[in-house]
Amino acid sequence: MVGRQPGILNDALGAVGNTPLIRLNKIPQQFGIQCNVLVKCEYFNAGGSVKDRIAARMLDEAEQQGLVTPGKTVIIEPTSGNTGVGLALACAVKGYRCIIVLPEKMSAEKVATLKALGAEVIRTPTEAAWDDPRSNIMTARRLAEETENAYILDQYNNPNNPLAHRVTAQEIIDDVTAVSANQGPLTPASSPRHHVTNLNSSSGKVDVLVAGVGTGGTVSGIATRLREDDHNPDLFVLGVDPIGSTLAVPASLNELENGESGAYKIEGIGYDFDPKSLDKQQVSAWIKTRDEESFDYARQLIRMEGLLCGGSSGAALAGAMRFLKEGGEGYDAFGSQQGKNVVIILPDSLRNYITKPWLIEGTKEEQHIA
Ligand code: PMP
Repeated sequence: MVGRQPGILNDALGAVGNTPLIRLNKIPQQFGIQCNVLVKCEYFNAGGSVKDRIAARMLDEAEQQGLVTPGKTVIIEPTSGNTGVGLALACAVKGYRCIIVLPEKMSAEKVATLKALGAEVIRTPTEAAWDDPRSNIMTARRLAEETENAYILDQYNNPNNPLAHRVTAQEIIDDVTAVSANQGPLTPASSPRHHVTNLNSSSGKVDVLVAGVGTGGTVSGIATRLREDDHNPDLFVLGVDPIGSTLAVPASLNELENGESGAYKIEGIGYDFDPKSLDKQQVSAWIKTRDEESFDYARQLIRMEGLLCGGSSGAALAGAMRFLKEGGEGYDAFGSQQGKNVVIILPDSLRNYITKPWLIEGTKEEQHIA
């Protein structure tokens, strides 16, 4: 896939996937990082996040297996919001009733989008552990028992979550391999949006993948495909986990320092249990991130690179920058290696955070002319 295919799409779900891979031109350079740092901009998906991919695929597969029927089945899902938006979008297009169960912590903007798409929204206490009867997961299960014709697609256990990201990975492979050093795209792209920049030097493959981890579907699915023999079995994968979450390995990384509460504001990444959709074998090393650095890097992505991403994109970049500059336990800093291609996933859009203080911080007051 180089450039965009001309044609008319069937419906909004046709605008899920085929997102651009864009080179960062300022942020890594300010640290003297020499490798190519490329970001996969998932906010271009129809519903605004990487999770549109899994929502569309989980619903399609369930339909094909005869598990759900439009107009009859009630789709219920516990989510941190973006899977909910993806599902609410798919349900709107296909004609399902949709109930989304999400913790109070998740932004009002996500809730507004869910409601606008016609979904019913149920909020649960943020502090409830996953197996607490009040948690979003347990509440969704209880609702499914109480509701006639209810079905939970269950992103935490559904194999179509990581499988959907084989496609994400293939798009990355196609874009990276379409560009060779000093040449630009091998085939001219038909659309400027997909015009992949030429690279000063390129290994011709993805060398490092960096992704924030929630259900783990993104990191596991993309890494599995990139590591196949026809691409790069030596791929290095950095998993990004916020301080307060317990996903990182070794477990000692997850210990809190004196005075740290373990609560974090970044949405969409981090858990207090290991979801089945996360294949930890695919992650070479983990890095822990703080809210402040994550929000700071999200603001830099927006203001310096013009990439309208959300907070977890900043977390992924924070992890990537630290790792590229300093390396990790037992790992060299890749940042000095010219020609290496580092791909960072930017999962969602600033649309989800428009009223959040972190996004507004440092902006200029608007002026009103009377
Ligand atoms: N960032 C955001 C904003 C998300 O909503 C999610 C999904 N929970 C992720 C990152 C992580 O994606 P995954 O669930 O595939 O690990």
